[in-house]
Amino acid sequence: MLNPIRLLLLGPPGAGKGTQTLKLLKQFPNLKTVSSGDILRQHIRNGTRIGTLASQYIKQGKLVPDELITKLVFKHLSTLNDSWILDGYPRTLTQAQNLSQFLTPLDRDINLVVELAVPESVIISRIEERWVHPASGRTYNDTYNKPKVAGLDDITSEPLVKRSDDNKLAMQNRLEEYRATTSPLKQYYKDKGILTTISGDSSDVIFPILLDTILEKSREA
Ligand code: ATP
Repeated sequence: MLNPIRLLLLGPPGAGKGTQTLKLLKQFPNLKTVSSGDILRQHIRNGTRIGTLASQYIKQGKLVPDELITKLVFKHLSTLNDSWILDGYPRTLTQAQNLSQFLTPLDRDINLVVELAVPESVIISRIEERWVHPASGRTYNDTYNKPKVAGLDDITSEPLVKRSDDNKLAMQNRLEEYRATTSPLKQYYKDKGILTTISGDSSDVIFPILLDTILEKSREA
């Protein structure tokens, strides 16, 4: 890669941000990723004070307070090198402005924002069929990405579980939160000239376009 890539993946719950991230990490071994949802779920698994607080919001499908998530993400980001993917943060205009204030003095602001536009009917059925391996964040799907052995992770053979927020009510709230917060966020990055939208019903359709978009960015003069 020539230019560093500092990518934000935007998209509704179940749009495949995690799946695309894993595919990109395979392609670019130097790339690192920060997923705000994964950081929070790790805290919940570890039973930390932050985890206990965050789980009250997460299980209802509501956003956790800006200050809480901002602190956590900045801590992770400051350990990373030049190229990275952000998944799930920033999610509100305030978070985007905070992030820019944090990164601009380091000369490391986001340089590419890709919105994954996947129809709601597709994402709802994906989430209903989603199973996760909590320790790694690997996800499976009852239809198009089944584990080799039903109910078990392919690599560790540990049990797969449902996420506490992959239920109908939390899902509705997550979609509502997404609709309410995304327009200002997209406008913010559109004004900066770094927003691209990729539409598609499946990760296989989206990935080659995403890859081209990133390669083009990395070669930009
Ligand atoms: P997906 O289902 O594809 O993982 P998602 O966007 O619903 O997408 P996560 O990004 O894992 O899921 O987030 C899960 C929950 O964690 C959110 O519903 C919210 O409660 C909390 N969360 C994660 N990131 C943020 C953030 N940037 N600001 C506020 N809350 C967040």
